[in-house]
Amino acid sequence: MTLYNMDVKRVIKKINSLNAKTIGLQFPEGLKTQAIEIAKTLEKETGTIVVISGDPCFGACDVSDLKMEDIVDLIVHYGHTPLPLHYKIPVLFIEAYANIDIKKTVGKSLDLLEDFSKIALVTTTQHLNQLDEIKDYLEDNGKEVVFGSSKNTRKGQVLGCNFSSIKNLDAEIYLFIGSGNFHPLGIYLFTKAPVLSIDPYNDEIKEMSDYADKILRIRFARITKAREVKKWGILVSSKEGQYRMKLAKDLKKLLEDSNHEAYILLVDNINPDVLLPYMDLEGFVVTACPRIAIDDSQMYKKPVITPKELEIVLNKREWKDYQLDEILFHERYD
Ligand code: SF4
Repeated sequence: MTLYNMDVKRVIKKINSLNAKTIGLQFPEGLKTQAIEIAKTLEKETGTIVVISGDPCFGACDVSDLKMEDIVDLIVHYGHTPLPLHYKIPVLFIEAYANIDIKKTVGKSLDLLEDFSKIALVTTTQHLNQLDEIKDYLEDNGKEVVFGSSKNTRKGQVLGCNFSSIKNLDAEIYLFIGSGNFHPLGIYLFTKAPVLSIDPYNDEIKEMSDYADKILRIRFARITKAREVKKWGILVSSKEGQYRMKLAKDLKKLLEDSNHEAYILLVDNINPDVLLPYMDLEGFVVTACPRIAIDDSQMYKKPVITPKELEIVLNKREWKDYQLDEILFHERYD
């Protein structure tokens, strides 16, 4: 059995119901190794031709519908849940739930949860199907469990750029189920409340405050450095769910009104290499995925900051009011 449930039966049913002839397949980075096997099965079972998207993909903000619009009849997007975006062609989202026992690691966290009675349970797509089981387990151990939901996400789900599901949740601690620092760091920065991260893959439990403090120190250093910048690049991504041109234009005006130069750069996939020709710019504000600035900042030689951090640079916001930049997918930004 593979680590993730790469449901193919639902895909075959959808292909047959649409009478689709050419299929686009898209996977996040961690699931791309499954692509060939799935393409082989689909071609054999349905007689379709499969086109695999080889571009980087980090979220449902980045469905290949624009690129594949004239090529395929259906896109099958694995590993994410849909966002409230308008996709150009039919898109089938397959969650790719994890086939992993979570209870063992959750059980180990009970000691650390001793002083907390009201727990908010939070996760990513891969574990949404296990939330009720964990809730029952925690309740059996005397805890009260709460979930949030929003227009952008399912019950108990957060995205790296959107925490609307946990806004104003009444909880003493957030229990995150999943791997890596990316989401639990976001939860900590968003709520400023205790966050315990449960990683069932490595059977590890991590309290996030030390790591978050380290990241905040890095952000403070970037913001301090950015105060010297007079010539800015404002980065806009053409990915549908990350496209915030109106925000970029507002930031350009804000900078110019503050006697800075500012130029808008439209890029598909933002990375250090695409910025190399623009090294006469001294710093960059990212209106695309907010995590580019927060999580990848070490990769960039110049300060790369979020729109909310720019407000601090320009003395429009105080450091004590530091906030994560969020993308509200149901709002239009163009
Ligand atoms: S914008 Fe970034 S954090 Fe948000 S869904 Fe896309 S890749 Fe994930």
